[in-house]
Amino acid sequence: MLLVSSGRLHATFAFGDLQVVALRDGYIDMPPTRLRDECGCPLDEVPAAVPIVGGNLRLSVNAFFATDGTRSLLIDTGASDAWHDPTMGLIYDALDEAGVDRAEITDVAVTHRHEDHVSGLIAPDGSEAFAKLERVWMGAGDTSVFTGRLEPIRDRVVPVSGQVAINDWATAIPTPGHTPGHTVYEVTSSAGRLLAWGDTVHVPTLQFEQPTVSWELDGDQSQARAARARLLEQLAQPDHFVAGAHLDSPGIARVTPSGDGYALEYLAPPIG
Ligand SMILES: [Zn+2]
Repeated sequence: MLLVSSGRLHATFAFGDLQVVALRDGYIDMPPTRLRDECGCPLDEVPAAVPIVGGNLRLSVNAFFATDGTRSLLIDTGASDAWHDPTMGLIYDALDEAGVDRAEITDVAVTHRHEDHVSGLIAPDGSEAFAKLERVWMGAGDTSVFTGRLEPIRDRVVPVSGQVAINDWATAIPTPGHTPGHTVYEVTSSAGRLLAWGDTVHVPTLQFEQPTVSWELDGDQSQARAARARLLEQLAQPDHFVAGAHLDSPGIARVTPSGDGYALEYLAPPIG
C-alpha cells in the first residue's frame, strides 16, 4: 500500500494491481460520554492521549474508492447535507480533487445505515449523487433506511445477508453489532487485503489500545465488541490493512499487536 498523491480531501494509494482512494467527507463532534466500558457505562476518565476539541471527541468521516481501471467500488458515501451541523458532505469535492468522476460510479457498498455513511447517495440539491448508479450493497438488517429522502435509491439496493463476492476483488462480510446490518468490505489485491470496516472503531486513539472500550451508539455493544476483537486479530496478520470510516483522515493504516491490544500505523500523513 503505497501513497501516490494526496490533497486536502483525498489520498490515493497504489495497492498492488488496484488503486485505492481515501476520501474525506468531513468530521463529526461527539461527547466523550459516548465511550463505554464493559458494563455499558461512560468511562470514569478519558485517557490524556485522546484529543478533546471544545469538550468533544472529533471523529474524521471517511469513505473509500477502489478501482482496477475497469471495475470500481465506492465504499460509504458520507453525510451529504443530512447532518444538523454542516461539518460533512465534502465527498463530492474529495472525488473531484482525486480526479474520480462520480457520474461514472455504478457500484456503491455501504457499511451501515447511519447518516454519515449512507446519506451521500443523495446530493444536497436532492438529486442522485451518482447518476449511473446500478447497485448499492448493504447488510439486509439495515436496508429499511431506504425511505423518505433515500426512497429513489431503493430499487437498486442489493441486500447482503451472508458473505458475498461483489466483484473479482471485493467481498461483503456481515459483521452485525454496531447495527444489525453492519457489513465490512474486504478488498484483495496482489499487495494484500484491505478491510474497509465502517464503524468498528470510533476513537482510534483509545480503541486500538483498549479494544474492549465500546461506543454508546453500538446497537449491541457485546456483539460489536466481539466483532472488533475478531477483525483486529485478522488485521494484525502480515499484508493486511484497514480503511476506517472514523480513523483520522485519510484513514488507511496497518495494525500490529501491542500489549493487551493493538497499535496502528497510518500509511499517509493527516489531511483535512
Ligand atoms: Zn459512522
